[in-house]
Amino acid sequence: MRIPLVAGNWKMFNTVSEARNFVAILAPAIRDIKGVEKVLCPPFVDLLAVKALLEGTDIQLGGQNLHWEQSGAYTGEISGPMLAELCSHVIIGHSERRAYFGETNETVNRKVNAALANGLIPIVCVGETLEENEAGKTAQVVSQQIQAGLGGINLSDTARLVIAYEPVWAIGTGKAATAEGANAVIAEVIRPALAAEFGQMASQEIRVLYGGSVKAKNAGEFFSQPDIDGGLVGGACLIVDEFTQIIQAAA
Ligand code: PEP
Repeated sequence: MRIPLVAGNWKMFNTVSEARNFVAILAPAIRDIKGVEKVLCPPFVDLLAVKALLEGTDIQLGGQNLHWEQSGAYTGEISGPMLAELCSHVIIGHSERRAYFGETNETVNRKVNAALANGLIPIVCVGETLEENEAGKTAQVVSQQIQAGLGGINLSDTARLVIAYEPVWAIGTGKAATAEGANAVIAEVIRPALAAEFGQMASQEIRVLYGGSVKAKNAGEFFSQPDIDGGLVGGACLIVDEFTQIIQAAA
């Protein structure tokens, strides 16, 4: 059984004081929803303040990125050991990082290995651009992202992996994929690619989320699909009522 997971990617929103005000309202709203793992991924500077507010709840915390080295002269970067003192999860290879910060399948791979080595649960984002989708290249692009991004991972670590299928054309656009379409990519491309890397059993155990314009009104459709195990939520995770309803839909 794959336990549903909903992660909120705050992106570059909420100062420390805004984060405190927001979580003071959000945490009581979602803390008692059972049957779903809940993860908040604020900007790095908010982590300590949010962590304090989540104490005593089952709401978990994640970073939005990490560097693959343990420490070193990498100005502006955050390492696995730094995150591991504050968080349980980390988003890796988000399409915004691939598009604006030069992240590649190779850097994703190094980061995934660094996250696992530091005991973090990586939420690894894959997904095709609009151009790739229209050119019929979805399967090719996404399976390459899985193969190159997850190569070299120990079989014993695969149970900790989380994949987020996020078609780039659906992120922040209000144009979600159809639930059936997203499920088909996960069932027919992502799980087979995982099976090729790690075997059939692992491919059925790894949780695969959908991300891309998930809202309260469409969350139920996505989460009722057999191969979608929850969501990675951007815009809607910054609105207490919306995010609460999305988590309820996954539960
Ligand atoms: C995301 O940032 O991962 C995301 C899916 O954003 P949105 O929900 O706003 O499309």
